[in-house]
Amino acid sequence: MNDKKLKVVLFTGYACNNNCAFCIDADKRALPQKTTAELLREAARAKGKGAYILEIIGGEATIRPDFSRVVAAAKKLGIPQVACATNGRLFADPAAARRIVRSGIDALVFSVHGPDARTHDALTRAPGSFAQLRKGLANLRALGFKKISGNTTVVKGNLAALPAIAKFYIKNRIPNVEFIFVDPNYGGAKNDFKGLVPRISKAAPLMRRALALGRAAGYPGWKARYVPLCYFKDCLGQISEINEREQFLTEHWAPDFVNRDAIGSRAAVGRRRTARCRGCLLYGACEGIWTEYLKQYGDAELKPVRKL
Ligand code: SF4
Repeated sequence: MNDKKLKVVLFTGYACNNNCAFCIDADKRALPQKTTAELLREAARAKGKGAYILEIIGGEATIRPDFSRVVAAAKKLGIPQVACATNGRLFADPAAARRIVRSGIDALVFSVHGPDARTHDALTRAPGSFAQLRKGLANLRALGFKKISGNTTVVKGNLAALPAIAKFYIKNRIPNVEFIFVDPNYGGAKNDFKGLVPRISKAAPLMRRALALGRAAGYPGWKARYVPLCYFKDCLGQISEINEREQFLTEHWAPDFVNRDAIGSRAAVGRRRTARCRGCLLYGACEGIWTEYLKQYGDAELKPVRKL
């Protein structure tokens, strides 16, 4: 426990220039943004607590005029890794891309929800968002910025496209990617569960296919997140939760809540194994599936593992 690294996820607020159908923060857009002074204070507090990673997220944090200033301040404080999860659109502006790279940011995680504008923009509900994301990637490459990862929220609307999304990441040489099974406990996916949330038995084969494409292209570090392990027993080394539990203690500092153990509380409250899991060899390592998923679809798809 003590040798785990502290990761502080600093939420700037929930404002966003996209409007993703599945967004967990869909019902929080109107909450007030944190002020610059608050963010600078919190960056200092994170440093004081010994944070190794400060991940700055929104909403979409990059659209704040003070974004670069907050990153630069966190780096000046000496936080080893300052990262941001982003929809990537702002980086289409070369001057903004340059400003953010110069702020000293260590890593960017681009959210790619489709392999093309049709799929991606249908989910972000922001026409032009895919074209801007691609331009943003190109601008960052031109600046020599290489620490770019990817994440994809897996929903009904992009399920069939997961192999093509994997190929998009391969073409763009992204070594770290997460395919995230949508969280329906809150926000957009809760509000439109049937329209957005695929059956895990349908999603898992395509997620595994995407991971396999990554492995074949030389990217064994790609991961699946928020999945029941019975569907991934041949690639347990590629499950985000297992890796992050071993490596990090994660705190979430949002405008409307503070969670001192985001990993532990997700496993304890957000996801569940059921009576069906009894005797499963992966029970100890598995977080089960989202509680809202169980409410809507039940647990008949869970397949206790008897042999590894
Ligand atoms: S049966 Fe239950 S405990 Fe076993 S891997 Fe599946 S969800 Fe996890």
